[in-house]
Amino acid sequence: MAQAVESTRLGYASHMPRLSKSRLMSSLQCARRVHFEVHRPELAVYSPATQMAFELGHQVGDIAIEVYGQGRGELIPYEAGLGQALQLTAGLLRGPRDEPVFEATLQHDGVLVREDVLLPSGASWRIVEVKASTKPKPEHVQDCAIQAWVHEGAGYPLESIALAHIDNRFVYPGGGDYRGILVEQDLTAEVRELQTSVPLWVQRAKEAVAGDEPQVPVGQHCFSPYECPFFTHCWPQDSAFPVHGLRGSRKKLGELVSAGYRDIREIPAALLNSEDHLRIRRVTRSGQPEILPGAGEFVRALPYPRYYLDFETIAPAVPVWPGTRPYELLPFQWSCHIEPAPGQVSHAEFLDLSGEPPMRALAEELVRTLGRSGPVIMYTAYEQRVIEGLAERCPDLANALQAIIERLVDLRPVTKANYYHPAMLGSWSIKAVAPTIASGLDYAQLDGIAEGNQASSAFLEAIRPGAPAERVAAVRRELLEYCRRDTEVMLRLAAFFAAH
Ligand code: SF4
Repeated sequence: MAQAVESTRLGYASHMPRLSKSRLMSSLQCARRVHFEVHRPELAVYSPATQMAFELGHQVGDIAIEVYGQGRGELIPYEAGLGQALQLTAGLLRGPRDEPVFEATLQHDGVLVREDVLLPSGASWRIVEVKASTKPKPEHVQDCAIQAWVHEGAGYPLESIALAHIDNRFVYPGGGDYRGILVEQDLTAEVRELQTSVPLWVQRAKEAVAGDEPQVPVGQHCFSPYECPFFTHCWPQDSAFPVHGLRGSRKKLGELVSAGYRDIREIPAALLNSEDHLRIRRVTRSGQPEILPGAGEFVRALPYPRYYLDFETIAPAVPVWPGTRPYELLPFQWSCHIEPAPGQVSHAEFLDLSGEPPMRALAEELVRTLGRSGPVIMYTAYEQRVIEGLAERCPDLANALQAIIERLVDLRPVTKANYYHPAMLGSWSIKAVAPTIASGLDYAQLDGIAEGNQASSAFLEAIRPGAPAERVAAVRRELLEYCRRDTEVMLRLAAFFAAH
């Protein structure tokens, strides 16, 4: 009763929007976030990584239905609306308990949950929450506590609650048989302990939604446990070199923003103690790029022929090809610019959109193209990881691939140590460096795919059975252009350094 009186006082009793579990989780991250999700959803900007995480969640959810259902059970549809989903769920949960229920939709005290998997257990139920991660995380326990609270509050018995996450040792046998990909961890004891806190979380979330826009300082919580989609709204963007362009500790950046700083150039050096921060500030204030002689010396010492190599990969949570594991790094494409001698450049590339496992053909073609001598230049050690994976997968090519690994030269540490341009805004990624060394190299100018997550998603879309031919052709063109851009930038970066 006391809570009802408080609710009325706050003015949310009659018109309060329902709180979904995900909104309640958002409120635990930040009161301002949940307020924006309800009142200013148009401000949200979801990064490609976040969008990919959503997609992944759906894929793993579909697999859970196959694994736990094995052709049995009821899936509660949402398309016909919330009312019908609630009604269907109630009908099933009150009936005989003998089959699994997927996406059971329940509400209690204005909080709505959809339970991934609900399994009958005698006169009670067992909830299984499905996640695409490879281990439980603290936020998963909060997520399960909310579900348990709503489930019991709605009047249904609950025997236990578990988290099913991906087992990355699972090897896909093929034929759509994913039994064994999910491994369960019982969270009942942790959830019971946390469950008593849920009413307070709900009350706080309702207050955050019903009240004025909460004033929450920015900081580490904007990125953890989830990347907040309101970053571009809350973090100052109204200067040429915004403070978040210092990168590094988000806590530190949040403190600087809270202290009123908007631009890197305004921050007193005495407030910074990291070498990188001091360097970024110094170069930004000078307005001129910094190029130290070490970069040119390093590049000029590299012999010919030179090979500039980049891979595109997928690492699907749900394996696509038999014999592969969840999240295994699998290349499907490479680009290589080749400089046999100063001033001579050719290009080679590999891309397989047939839908068959491309790794073997990709490795053979790579070994043929890279020959036996000359540095193989990469940007970050990612290419080394990919080649090591290929060597494991193709033991008969392991020696040839190992010989390539021994020729690898990483251009990133050299760049990091010797080059900074104010426009890089604290990032030495190839995409940040590219537009600072030559016009026409900006990835934003690419037509379509412009970053790695997009490349992976587009590849998986193109190899899906029945993918329209025009879409496949467009993906082919975009992937070739994107991967080629990476190696072209490396080639141009080496030339840029050599000239300084
Ligand atoms: S960006 Fe940070 S402060 Fe703003 S809503 Fe998100 S978590 Fe809260």
